Amino acid sequence: MTKRYKIAVAGAGIGGLTVAALLADKGHQVSVFDQFDQPQPVGSGLVIQPVGQAVLDRIGAGDAARSKGNPIQRMLGHEAERNRNVLNVWYDKRTDGRVGLAIHRASLFEAIYTAVRARDVSVSSRSRVVEAQAGRVKLADGTTQGPFDLIIDSAGASSPLSPLKSRPLPYGAIWGTVDWPDTPLPTNQLTQCYRRADRMIGVLPIGSLPGETIQKAAIFWSMPAQAHPDWRKAGLDAWKAQATSLWPAFAPFAAQVQDPDQMTMARYSHGTLRKPWSSGLVHIGDAAHRASPQLGQGANMALLDALALARALDCAEGEAALALYARSRRWHVLTYQAMSAAFTPQYQSDSRWLPVLRDRLLYPVSQIPPGPKALTAIVCGTMLPPLGRLGRV
Ligand SMILES: Cc1cc2nc3c(=O)[nH]c(=O)nc-3n(C[C@H](O)[C@H](O)[C@H](O)COP(=O)(O)OP(=O)(O)OC[C@H]3O[C@@H](n4cnc5c(N)ncnc54)[C@H](O)[C@@H]3O)c2cc1C
Repeated sequence: MTKRYKIAVAGAGIGGLTVAALLADKGHQVSVFDQFDQPQPVGSGLVIQPVGQAVLDRIGAGDAARSKGNPIQRMLGHEAERNRNVLNVWYDKRTDGRVGLAIHRASLFEAIYTAVRARDVSVSSRSRVVEAQAGRVKLADGTTQGPFDLIIDSAGASSPLSPLKSRPLPYGAIWGTVDWPDTPLPTNQLTQCYRRADRMIGVLPIGSLPGETIQKAAIFWSMPAQAHPDWRKAGLDAWKAQATSLWPAFAPFAAQVQDPDQMTMARYSHGTLRKPWSSGLVHIGDAAHRASPQLGQGANMALLDALALARALDCAEGEAALALYARSRRWHVLTYQAMSAAFTPQYQSDSRWLPVLRDRLLYPVSQIPPGPKALTAIVCGTMLPPLGRLGRV
């Protein structure tokens, strides 16, 4: 029989809540600690890829997420100055085929948190973890919790427990949530517009917020990480004029932004822990690997890490289980991190030649078989078996 552990989870985000539910199902005693005052997510929308949705299904959160989110069949991007498509990726052209699930973070959080609450898991808010040592978790209020057999670090990109030193990326983006307006843009696709690689505008239909039925869009505008103060200073009218001259279809989305605080600046970084565990401590999600959201894989990766770790603890004990988790995820994580590093500067950088290469060579080649199939596998998260020897998702 599998050993039952007393486990602390630092961070009630996408990965932390999911691993808590999976481990509770295996009979482990799980306590989750998060810094938030009330359980709540931050940010706008994201896309959960098909393999990530399969993990949500394992904890019974998939249907709830799908009922609030919006299916995405395609990602389409065009270059503003030449008005030519330079990105065209289908999940599956069939309406009943594989889709991405675009969803507001609040709705995703609600779906996962509801699944956690249905289980015997303790979730403590106002519990900022500052240290993990010898099986104990130290909180910001000076108290210590434990001992635990295992501490799972799922505290995201700013985890105080992770030794990962990630490299800040030169570009980030402002993100906001607006109502889906009266627009001819399709509701089954992520639509993007680029000018070279130094401007990117995106519109993602994300379904509705918890307790609402109004359809929403996540909108984003890419900019150098240090340019945010200048953007605020220049004023919303200047931004709207620039954005809508590049992409007139963006006008009804931009018109809903009346206050700069509606748009949140997200800064990105890139890095991967070589060994995502040490004695009694294991890192998952952004605490273990960070990348720009260009490939839309971060949440997916956190969900896959959660499933891999829960399975590894089912197959092996102690450090052997942590090593098995790391080995099983290693190649999938490294491959996606490498692809993110290669793709991101084509869409977010000051480079003049990378967008030319993208538009004149990479895009045309990507549309010739087997290019479309390979692109579909990349976005679906199935380029490589995500769980290695731990089996299928
Ligand atoms: C703008 C933007 C767009 C994105 N779009 C996509 C997308 O389309 N698809 C995709 O797959 N990914 C996307 N991502 C990435 C994705 O959001 C992350 O990779 C994912 O949320 C990581 O999950 P996680 O569980 O590791 O961390 P998080 O979901 O960030 O959760 C971390 C949790 O830890 C808590 N916490 C932090 N510090 C402490 C502490 N000291 N003590 C206790 N609790 C703590 C936080 O409150 C939070 O609840 C996007 C990211 C950004 C910024």
